Amino acid sequence: MALTKKGDFMYGTTSGDTQAELRSYSVANGHEATRFASSKCDCGSRTFALQSDEEAGVAIRTCSDCGQEHLMGDSEDYLEDATPEGHACVCENEVFELVSGVSVYKGTHDVRWYYIACHCVECNLVGVFADWKCEAGDAAAFLAKV
Ligand SMILES: [Zn+2]
Ligand SMILES: [Zn+2]
Repeated sequence: MALTKKGDFMYGTTSGDTQAELRSYSVANGHEATRFASSKCDCGSRTFALQSDEEAGVAIRTCSDCGQEHLMGDSEDYLEDATPEGHACVCENEVFELVSGVSVYKGTHDVRWYYIACHCVECNLVGVFADWKCEAGDAAAFLAKV
């Protein structure tokens, strides 16, 4: 499948579509995401509610199956000052599949910018719902925690 545009929004069906939308957003942002990871709960589920605070640099995903909350990436370090708010799709659904992407500092593996893209399980909308400048160190270690 491929991304399709309807009105102001992009729609896709696979995690590859979500990744493509994340990448194109990141290019427009001037910090191209080059490494990606999909979120998966310990219970095996891939659908979540998402809360974030871009100012603080915090994202929390809550599994739609087992209810487990998980602080994404290095969010735990910044939680104290955060006021995370929930995300809803334009269709009002609040359950998403999540793809994270990072750009790195040139010539390094160190995270420079963090992007979280959502795929709505109801209407197939895809979009970057949160992103921020992120000094999290090693990209592989960071993406293992999304
Ligand atoms: Zn779960
Ligand atoms: Zn939707």
